Amino acid sequence: MEKTLVIIKPGAIQRGLIGEVIHRFERKGLQVCGIKMTQLTEEILAEHYAHLVQRPFFKRIKDSMMITPVIVCCLKGLDAVHIVHEMAGKTNGREAALGTIRGDFSMSVQENIIHTSDNVENAKTELARFFNQNEIFEFDQHNLNFLYANDEI
Ligand code: ADP
Repeated sequence: MEKTLVIIKPGAIQRGLIGEVIHRFERKGLQVCGIKMTQLTEEILAEHYAHLVQRPFFKRIKDSMMITPVIVCCLKGLDAVHIVHEMAGKTNGREAALGTIRGDFSMSVQENIIHTSDNVENAKTELARFFNQNEIFEFDQHNLNFLYANDEI
């Protein structure tokens, strides 16, 4: 089973979408195995968005990500990294497919509701960036036999 990171961004928190976002992942069958509210800092954002630091809009993104605390979640499931990234949709909410989280709730490139890890290696790095080891929990998911076939898990 893979684990992946979701950050529910300040815009979604202000719009009252925390429950909606988590509900979608739970309904899909992903297990929430870590979740907390945290205030992002300039330092952590420079690390997390290192690929964007030189871009002219970086200050804007950083400011927007620090306006309120965020919710960070660790989600677990078969192929969780790919599935969760697909459920987020394209970066630009106006281009994201309807049915995806960004497609359904965002009209913006910047204000696009959530961050999700884009590959397995980044998921590991990003989870370690936002969670202490003792904040990610291993516990039985009792509906596994109804979510997957025997030969899938
Ligand atoms: P994603 O979040 O889809 O993985 P990126 O890693 O390219 O996308 O960008 C990180 C975040 O930076 C985006 O989710 C978005 O909030 C913001 N962003 C990216 N490109 C722009 C842009 N051109 N203008 C404003 N904000 C942007």
